[in-house]
Amino acid sequence: QEKLLEVKDLRVSFFTYAGEVQAVRGVSFHVNKGEAVGIVGESGCGKSVTSQSIMRLIPWPPGKIVGGQILFQGKDLVNATEQEMEKIRGNEIGMIFQDPMTSLNPTMTIGRQIAEGLIKHQGLSKEQARAKAIEMLGKVGIPSPEKRVDQYPHEFSGGMRQRVMIAIALACNPKLLIADEPTTALDVTIQAQIIDLMRDLQKDMDTSIILITHDLGVVADLCERVIVMYAGKVVEVGTARDIFHKPQHPYTWGLLRSVPRLDARKKEPLSPIYGTPPDLLNPPKGCGFAARCEYCMKVCLEQEPPVTDLGNGHQVACWLQHPQAPKPERLQVKEV
Ligand code: SF4
Ligand code: MG
Repeated sequence: QEKLLEVKDLRVSFFTYAGEVQAVRGVSFHVNKGEAVGIVGESGCGKSVTSQSIMRLIPWPPGKIVGGQILFQGKDLVNATEQEMEKIRGNEIGMIFQDPMTSLNPTMTIGRQIAEGLIKHQGLSKEQARAKAIEMLGKVGIPSPEKRVDQYPHEFSGGMRQRVMIAIALACNPKLLIADEPTTALDVTIQAQIIDLMRDLQKDMDTSIILITHDLGVVADLCERVIVMYAGKVVEVGTARDIFHKPQHPYTWGLLRSVPRLDARKKEPLSPIYGTPPDLLNPPKGCGFAARCEYCMKVCLEQEPPVTDLGNGHQVACWLQHPQAPKPERLQVKEV
């Protein structure tokens, strides 16, 4: 399989008055051509910072990519010039965000906002771009696109606005679509429709997708592979099948326990993961999850868990999995 994107040992820090906040601490993963990959984790785990790094949208100051590589079609985006990035953003890599209202321009018609990128990146004439805008609105399931194309964002519902965002993001037929919490602001029915739409378009246009979300349920519907992030690191990665049916990291177990089950006859109470993530101003020496992990051993506090390869691309960074792990010496979990 051909790799479209390869992130290697990415490190991103925010330099604040208090010191260096290490938001992303050596993240590596890849995305194959035409593949949908989910990045999941709680807010602050570094998933959005990772995606913003790929687009080179980390604001300096205070944020900065301090190490690693982001190979997109073999080219390292970490060293790309701003000019090169402008050609890539919106053209080769499209992006959609949680709140379309903040990313759409309220003073511009939807048609012009879709056309902008087509004129800028693909050299289409105004008329061609407008025709393509109408085609895209139809493609994302907006009724009577010929009429809607001249309307403004406020004339669309939340779900329809997200469809418009997808139309904008896909108009230039990007090779990669980064979707950061694209359905979080929408109600459950609309959420499912948007995910269906993304799946259809992905198959249709052979676009690779990175879906960033705190919601494992959303990932199950769309993604072939899942990357679980915690405290600025990848703690587990595998096929969606392995992550959902054979998860190996205590944090992934916690995430799975907190997925609401729509099919459950009786509403089971969700079990949240207690405690909060560590302060990345002073990252813990050992495992980042130790303070919240009910299986925490002495070694977990002292040494970073190495990555164990379980085959089939399933990797986990946890001492429980490591064949050479010292004998589990149960520790009482310290106060959280
Ligand atoms: Fe828990 Fe230790 Fe595994 Fe970290 S390395 S998740 S503390 S068992
Ligand atoms: Mg985020």
